Amino acid sequence: MVIEENSSLQRYTSFGCYEIGRYLIRISSTDALLEAIAWSKEKKLPYLVLGSGSNLLFTKSFEGILLKMEIMGIKKTNETATDVFLSVGAGENWHHFVSYCVQKGWGGIENLSLIPGTVGASPIQNIGAYGVEVQETIAAVTAIDTQTNQLTTFNNKECDFGYRESLFKKVKNRYVITEVQFILKKQPQLKTDYGAIKEVLHEKNIKNPSLATISQAIIQIRSSKLPDPHQLGNAGSFFKNPSISKTNFEKLKLSFPTMIAFPISDDVYKISAEWLIEHCGWKGSKKGAVGCYEKQSLVIVNYGQATGKEIFDFSEEIIQSVLQKFAILLEREVTIL
Ligand SMILES: Cc1cc2nc3c(=O)[nH]c(=O)nc-3n(C[C@H](O)[C@H](O)[C@H](O)COP(=O)(O)OP(=O)(O)OC[C@H]3O[C@@H](n4cnc5c(N)ncnc54)[C@H](O)[C@@H]3O)c2cc1C
Repeated sequence: MVIEENSSLQRYTSFGCYEIGRYLIRISSTDALLEAIAWSKEKKLPYLVLGSGSNLLFTKSFEGILLKMEIMGIKKTNETATDVFLSVGAGENWHHFVSYCVQKGWGGIENLSLIPGTVGASPIQNIGAYGVEVQETIAAVTAIDTQTNQLTTFNNKECDFGYRESLFKKVKNRYVITEVQFILKKQPQLKTDYGAIKEVLHEKNIKNPSLATISQAIIQIRSSKLPDPHQLGNAGSFFKNPSISKTNFEKLKLSFPTMIAFPISDDVYKISAEWLIEHCGWKGSKKGAVGCYEKQSLVIVNYGQATGKEIFDFSEEIIQSVLQKFAILLEREVTIL
């Protein structure tokens, strides 16, 4: 077991801040994972699984053990006339996996093209974009239960997926995901009804899109709207879309008629956090090296040498201003440490 000490987290997180990780261990197998967890118990130090660090904000140095997930491999475990079953190592890069499936003609995750991160992190917050959530293609998730050191497999229902939620996010740090099992379709139903996708297909005069054209359209849309973390530190959407009661929404709508929302049940509405933040005047604003991205107000960016604490404080100011203006409490999507 190789233990790296005092690593700068700058290259391990998409925000690119310079906080320090006390210990870092690269995990390339289940055995290596069990050994590292045993060491953390022996040293009585906390551990944290690190994928690509694209949904994490360290507000201070991490005085524990970072388990850098590097379990690799994409295996076809079964195939029927209609479906393909795949088992994928938690350390595989998510977008590479999507591209691999698109190339093979296996559908279901093409709308999730270009989301940064690892396959193992994809069930944690049930990644989603352009009308698709990863839970729709996950058959099961295999994880080490760190309380018992047993390898455990959770079927889709047991993962308890929700909007940017899952069992693994709720029960913090108990399960370390080693593999994710997917079911993909050989004759997929493409999801093209999302406004921006339709526009790109129309622009390119594509009448019968393929998996590849959908994936390319998504890549084009995302590249034009979201900052590339290699150029400008960020973690994608910093906040979740909040849910409020229908009565509350109807009351707010009287004062703010353009407010964007959509019903998720008979009496609950999900409000666009992007709209709320923009209407508090944050879009494109800057404070020192931290800012609210000019093309997408949900994204907080690091323009240079911002510390994690400065980014956190900036997000707190946004939360407070939204609370004051709309009496809605925004919740962070990014995991704060
Ligand atoms: C530019 C940009 C755009 C983005 N767009 C989207 C989007 O459209 N939709 C979306 O849903 N997200 C989006 N995100 C967020 C991010 O890409 C996802 O949350 C991604 O799944 C994080 O993967 P990661 O490997 O970087 O996880 P990390 O950031 O390394 O970890 C995230 C959390 O998961 C835990 N974790 C990671 N791997 C494991 C594992 N194997 N076992 C147990 N716990 C683990 C970590 O401990 C941490 O708590 C975006 C981020 C960026 C920077």
